[in-house]
Amino acid sequence: MNTVVLGAGIAGLGYASKARGNVKVFEKNAVPGGLCGSFIIDGFTFDYGIHQSFTAIPEARKLFDNTDYRCYSPHAVNLYYGNDIPNPVIYNLYKFPEEVRTRLITSFKNRAKDIVVNTYADWLRTTYGDEIKSMFYDVYTRKYWTVTSDEMSVSWIGKRLTEPVLEKIVRGADKKSDEDNYYASEMRYPKQGGFTSFLTSLTESLNIVCGKEAVSIDPDTRLVTFTDGSIVTYDNLASSIPLPVMAEIVRGVPENVKLAASRLKWTNLSIVSVALNKQYVSDYIWDYVYDEDIIVSRINKPGMHSSHNTPPGKSSFQFEIYRQGKEKANATEDVDSVICAAERLGIAEKEEILFTDHQQIPYANIIYYNGMEEDRDIVRRYLESRGIKLIGRFGRWEYLWSDQSYMSGVRAAGEG
Ligand SMILES: Cc1cc2nc3c(=O)[nH]c(=O)nc-3n(C[C@H](O)[C@H](O)[C@H](O)COP(=O)(O)OP(=O)(O)OC[C@H]3O[C@@H](n4cnc5c(N)ncnc54)[C@H](O)[C@@H]3O)c2cc1C
Repeated sequence: MNTVVLGAGIAGLGYASKARGNVKVFEKNAVPGGLCGSFIIDGFTFDYGIHQSFTAIPEARKLFDNTDYRCYSPHAVNLYYGNDIPNPVIYNLYKFPEEVRTRLITSFKNRAKDIVVNTYADWLRTTYGDEIKSMFYDVYTRKYWTVTSDEMSVSWIGKRLTEPVLEKIVRGADKKSDEDNYYASEMRYPKQGGFTSFLTSLTESLNIVCGKEAVSIDPDTRLVTFTDGSIVTYDNLASSIPLPVMAEIVRGVPENVKLAASRLKWTNLSIVSVALNKQYVSDYIWDYVYDEDIIVSRINKPGMHSSHNTPPGKSSFQFEIYRQGKEKANATEDVDSVICAAERLGIAEKEEILFTDHQQIPYANIIYYNGMEEDRDIVRRYLESRGIKLIGRFGRWEYLWSDQSYMSGVRAAGEG
């Protein structure tokens, strides 16, 4: 039996590791890994955005444990117009003047509790109150999600956001909170080689062909065609290719399915990686940036995940900029904005920069809007009816972490 897997991200690799028969993975990039990939420039190792593992899924843990890793606490900070506020903001209001603290706490106490929660905006209103919603969450939503909170649904939230209690808010309004409020208390990261080293046991044992972008899939003849004109046949096909792309490249997709696919929304991600000729000065591992006149949403410090990510005496930063759908970034403008932001935030002066690197990742996060699941399911159901197994964050079109993406591949392979 010929099994063809499209995409060598963690989902495709998970599928291939469990599938039977003659299994080949085809990847459009030059190296496997997808979003869990890493790259090295002049001795500096970077990932594609902040990546660390906090999996509690035993089977995924078994994969990650094949690689030597280090553990640390999720130590992040919120940069808010010149103020450094430990995460989460809600439990560290001590950083604000008394008048602001009082206004935020009063709004929390008086928050609407009996409205019907249809949108993320409603959820924020009932969970945090109007003032905290508009001062922090609405601002960050526009930057990170590229939409407003009333354009988003609530089904993606899960345990990702803190549901605060008054007692802790009041305590944190007085002094720094020691509460561990992140959705995981311990982060794991490979000692060497960047996040992608977690995939080494898979990439070394599987048959992966890189530089192969699928441009046409014919479910009737069971043929996949690639950009270089080569063709493979399959008995069994699994795909981690994003659903909007699948709706374009699978032959014979009906108009209603194409229409549903065209309504799906996502963010793309520009990463500007910067190497510095000096050591880190802050011990926060990553930063959330709220300032609306700074285009960057998050700043990662790769050398704080593992000291092997930077040469001795140096440091590196990676700045994340989000845009929607197919909107293209201008690399020069992004790099210039990042250098300005680095100077303004006190991270680096121009003369301290050894190099900068810009890359745009076409699919980063799925935007959940009311009705998204219905649109997605129309596309999913059709492709599955044509015998294609859909796996991974963009193949299934779900907000999956790396371990969940891996498991989506593993489970689909187990289903035969
Ligand atoms: C900024 C960011 C930070 C994250 N941080 C974390 C974290 O800290 N911890 C965590 O657990 N998870 C994190 N995640 C989630 C994690 O990255 C994903 O769940 C996981 O990497 C998705 O794997 P995948 O295989 O489903 O998709 P991908 O990694 O996107 O793999 C799909 C592959 O298919 C290839 N492909 C696409 N089109 C074609 C084509 N036409 N032909 C052939 N190949 C094709 C792509 O090049 C890609 O390699 C983060 C995600 C982002 C965006």
